[in-house]
Amino acid sequence: MKAFSLQKPASVADAVAALGSAEDVLPLAGGMTLIPTLKQRLSECAALVDLSDVPELRGISLEGDVLVIGAMTRHTEVANSDVVRKAIPSLAALASRIGDQQVRNRGTIGGSVANNDPAADYPAAVLVLNAEIVTNVRTIPADAFFIGMFETALEPGEIILRFRFPVPDMAGYAKFASPASRYALAGVFVARTGDSVRAVVTGAASSVFRATDVENALARDFQPGALDRISIDPSEFLSDIHADKDYRGHLAIVMAKRAVQTALALAE
Ligand SMILES: Cc1cc2nc3c(=O)[nH]c(=O)nc-3n(C[C@H](O)[C@H](O)[C@H](O)COP(=O)(O)OP(=O)(O)OC[C@H]3O[C@@H](n4cnc5c(N)ncnc54)[C@H](O)[C@@H]3O)c2cc1C
Repeated sequence: MKAFSLQKPASVADAVAALGSAEDVLPLAGGMTLIPTLKQRLSECAALVDLSDVPELRGISLEGDVLVIGAMTRHTEVANSDVVRKAIPSLAALASRIGDQQVRNRGTIGGSVANNDPAADYPAAVLVLNAEIVTNVRTIPADAFFIGMFETALEPGEIILRFRFPVPDMAGYAKFASPASRYALAGVFVARTGDSVRAVVTGAASSVFRATDVENALARDFQPGALDRISIDPSEFLSDIHADKDYRGHLAIVMAKRAVQTALALAE
């Protein structure tokens, strides 16, 4: 690991000032991804700005029909929150299955979404629930946020403050997890609000994406059987030692059916 300085501001204003103070200054959340990549010299920086003492970045609340979650909220807090469990139970369930307990105690929703790992769970939730990503400069709709592998619409020095999740009528998530890391080999999140259905795949391609054929079939009939004749073109999917693209394509439909089953069960 190369040498860097560390700052620990106590407000968003001070954090933003510190991030803008020099080139190569990065925000630090739980360090679950950032610290290993710095240690392995896959990335480097002049300074880190630790966000863990900024109270405005924490907390969970329900504002009308919108669930608001601060960027520095840990996975374990989302998993165990009564507010989340009541408003969007599938989101609490998703958080409870991220990594292991140590990762859930340190990892944050903001770090996960900013990182946009192709196999991460939270990006699927943000995209399927049509959430808003509130930063220190603007509000970004989920459809415009995820650009590609480890790439988002965030500009240098821009930090996520909070997420605003509209509460759906029903939603469900299913993932086929790597037994080692618990990252998704393929995961599908489905959500229905009124007549509108969204379905998002993670783990299979270079970034999360909406599966429109799945959405259209479920808009006609929100049942697992509606996907019996649906497939997702796997030609752009990832192939690695864990699973090839065709297998991921197969898994995506299986997970989509399970996600619908879960959504229906949670809504009962
Ligand atoms: C062993 C292991 C297993 C895991 N399994 C899973 C899994 O099953 N599913 C899953 O989804 N994830 C998994 N993860 C990822 C984990 O959940 C973390 O969320 C992820 O590593 C990000 O970590 P972090 O929140 O500590 O952010 P950090 O590592 O501190 O930061 C990650 C990136 O986001 C940037 N950043 C952080 N906060 C902000 C912010 N507020 N605004 C803008 N940029 C910001 C940082 O500069 C950095 O580039 C796993 C991680 C490990 C180590």
